[in-house]
Amino acid sequence: MNAVLCRYGELFLKAGNRPRFERRLVDNVRLALTGLSGFRIETPHGRILVRLSEGDVEEACARLERVFGLVSISPVAVVDSEITAIRQAAVACADAAVERDPAFRRSFRIEARRSEKRFPLTSYEISCDVGAAIEGALKIPVNLTDPALVVGIEVGATGSYVYADRREAPGGLPVESSGRALLLLSGGIDSPVAAWLSAKRGLALDALYFHSPPFVGEKSRDKVVTLARTLARWQALRTLTVVSFTDTQKRLREAGPAPLAVVLYRRMMMRVADLIADGTRAEALVTGENLGQVASQTIGNLATIEAAARRLVLRPLVTYDKRETIDLAKRIGTFDTSILPYEDCCSLFVPPHPSTAARLDDVERAEASLDMAAEAAAVAATAETLTL
Ligand code: ATP
Ligand code: MG
Repeated sequence: MNAVLCRYGELFLKAGNRPRFERRLVDNVRLALTGLSGFRIETPHGRILVRLSEGDVEEACARLERVFGLVSISPVAVVDSEITAIRQAAVACADAAVERDPAFRRSFRIEARRSEKRFPLTSYEISCDVGAAIEGALKIPVNLTDPALVVGIEVGATGSYVYADRREAPGGLPVESSGRALLLLSGGIDSPVAAWLSAKRGLALDALYFHSPPFVGEKSRDKVVTLARTLARWQALRTLTVVSFTDTQKRLREAGPAPLAVVLYRRMMMRVADLIADGTRAEALVTGENLGQVASQTIGNLATIEAAARRLVLRPLVTYDKRETIDLAKRIGTFDTSILPYEDCCSLFVPPHPSTAARLDDVERAEASLDMAAEAAAVAATAETLTL
């Protein structure tokens, strides 16, 4: 194997934006491979082909399996578009596959596709020719309906690809093809999953974390950094900005009746996030909020919180059950970090009975005792940004 063949979905190509999406996807593929030496990217019809040295194929696959916009990838042998070379490569490929996993000996089938219509054999004729060669050389029976092993062949104008392994990639849209957003990232289970889902729909994200030292320890902050780095491996985050929330949080707590505290903190988070988003040119804010999970997440409170934001607020998890969120958190690799038992700023100075229906006029009355714009600017001024 001397290359990786990347397949991408057709859905987004309908919008007439095809060249733009393809360019973005190729850029993201290149970015994912940063640090591997001497790879070359080609874009044969409807595919992305990464040529690289044999020793880098596995590492490249591991990275490309995390690139949004790709639906599947295969390590491939690239050979001349000529039946003898294709036949030879296919036999070698099947041989290596059964060597890896003897279960493949049970049966096989050829899946041939011909984008080069001038090739002298049809897809069916290629399958028959190569199938007979594998059957003869390796004594594996053909099974067209339920084969253990599928050997794939794609015949193109400039070369043909032969493979026996197709791995799933996450699909979705290339990161940044839908624009930019700012994620409010806590150390919990939800917001990292919200990040992943947003990146999957093509948003490029930067993250903002509200830290409240010394009440919230450095371990909590480290946990958020770890989560951010895990998300960066999916290209789902570019930077993490940490702001200090302690002083403002204390003043907010004293500004109004205790049951309103959480809503007051959240509204301040929206204002600060808008200021940070001005600097990153983000067009929307993203949170891990869900409907009905905690007291602050009633429809009424979400509306009262959102009223403090200038930007569109996206909540990808709003319809998710906790179970679904946890399953996804495990799949994307954030769960084990998220469940580490460190406190979060929103559990600070929180009353035993937070309001589940904070009315906007009550909240605004409480806020009138402070200069909200100045408070938001003061929090934003503490920003420290880490490039991931
Ligand atoms: P999570 O699991 O993401 O912490 P949660 O179910 O605990 O969510 P809340 O604690 O109410 O719910 O937080 C709701 C959302 O507010 C979070 O998903 C996140 O987007 C944002 N948020 C909460 N705390 C912080 C923080 N300290 N820094 C940045 N964003 C935060
Ligand atoms: Mg939380």
